[in-house]
Amino acid sequence: MSQTIKGSCMCQGIQFEYTGTPDRFSYCHCKMCQKFSGGAFGAFITLKRKDLHYIKGEELRKEYSSSEWASRVFCSICGSSLEYIYHEMPEDVSISAGLFDEDPKIRASRHIFVKDKCKWFEITDKIEQIARY
Ligand SMILES: [Zn+2]
Ligand SMILES: [Zn+2]
Repeated sequence: MSQTIKGSCMCQGIQFEYTGTPDRFSYCHCKMCQKFSGGAFGAFITLKRKDLHYIKGEELRKEYSSSEWASRVFCSICGSSLEYIYHEMPEDVSISAGLFDEDPKIRASRHIFVKDKCKWFEITDKIEQIARY
């Protein structure tokens, strides 16, 4: 099922859309995703980089190398958490689910890095839980 879903950062400086079907939707509880999101976990929808199109503000993307294996991209104006990039899979990109302005028509299927989950958050849904990845 192909679709076009739009998204944006908090200041609207960056606007994007994707076409196609996302690969997966994961809640990541690793420490870096807690920091990146500012919340209990990162909610990421993974799609093909070729299906992601920046309509506006691509130059506002700021990339931070968060580890040897991954980078994070955020808006340099408002700080919204935008992308997770795993260097071993450059054809994929994971977008923070909260940036979509329309229903992405996919629901989270798993919690990952549950071993690092913050103490004050309890998982109460029934989807799969994976200790690491
Ligand atoms: Zn912004
Ligand atoms: Zn993570």
